[in-house]
Amino acid sequence: MTHAVPHQPEDAIPVVLVIDDCVDVHRLLSVRLGSEAIELVSAHSGEEGLTRAGEVLPSLILLDLDMPGIDGFEVLRRVKDDAAISEIPVIVLSGMQSPHDKVTAFDLGAVDFVGKPFDMAELRARVRSALRLHSLMRMLAQRAQIDGLTGLWNRSYFEERWTNEAKRARRHDHPLSLAVLDLDSFKQVNDSYGHPAGDAVLQGLSRVLKREIRGSDVACRYGGEEFALIMPDTTPEAARALCDRVRAMFEGMNWPRHPGRNVTFSCGVAGASVGVPVDAPDWLEIADANLYAAKRGGRNRVIATDLTPEDPGLRKAG
Ligand SMILES: [Mg+2]
Repeated sequence: MTHAVPHQPEDAIPVVLVIDDCVDVHRLLSVRLGSEAIELVSAHSGEEGLTRAGEVLPSLILLDLDMPGIDGFEVLRRVKDDAAISEIPVIVLSGMQSPHDKVTAFDLGAVDFVGKPFDMAELRARVRSALRLHSLMRMLAQRAQIDGLTGLWNRSYFEERWTNEAKRARRHDHPLSLAVLDLDSFKQVNDSYGHPAGDAVLQGLSRVLKREIRGSDVACRYGGEEFALIMPDTTPEAARALCDRVRAMFEGMNWPRHPGRNVTFSCGVAGASVGVPVDAPDWLEIADANLYAAKRGGRNRVIATDLTPEDPGLRKAG
């Protein structure tokens, strides 16, 4: 998995990747860091370390400098050059401790430098501190992608995630569906009952979405009163059924600020049961066109397009 955005829960045990050509260092660390709430992964060369980093997306890398093949400086350079892993903090662990080596390591992006032989208590403290900082940074990054009013993912997260999911579905030949939702006559709610009433409606729809979707679905607030729902591994028929269920529930909701005045949304769905050669922006455009068809057709409805080719032999065409 090489998502740019890590999705492991906040309380998952952090993985620490140790890259060192010396077997004794791995042995020592696994014994002496054994009591910490971390999982150690070992790599014995720079090449192996870079591969493992991409595979396991560790929370921290402990990196030796002096190694045959790709040395630690080069590993550090490549980590920082690769967007998928560049945010992972790196502590350099080295017997090379000239001021020049230290300055080079810090300039290349290391967060810390610990000399060998190292004091275990000090190393443990530095590992803990780097992990704390990393988890804080991740929380902040995640918070920047969440919509404050509704608690759903925001548009910038949607753009990134949608692009990734469209690529992933095509590569692995998986089903994928997308829905765009837009509240009907939302301006009237705001104009008649005030903006707090409008906010309550946006939050109400978000609550229904969060409750009804599965863990793998991604609900986003796309814009003012527009929402998007990414449904990985979901056929267009299943996506349509889900959206229609949400539509019916939302229509039946009671609003304390305007009892007797129901609110509805229109919805456009586009999905495929197999990987299809449709780019993310085009796919979004098809869902959007369905949304507008739903509006024109009288609102409060779901219109879906199945992008699955009829002849499976043509699936991978284009
Ligand atoms: Mg070495």
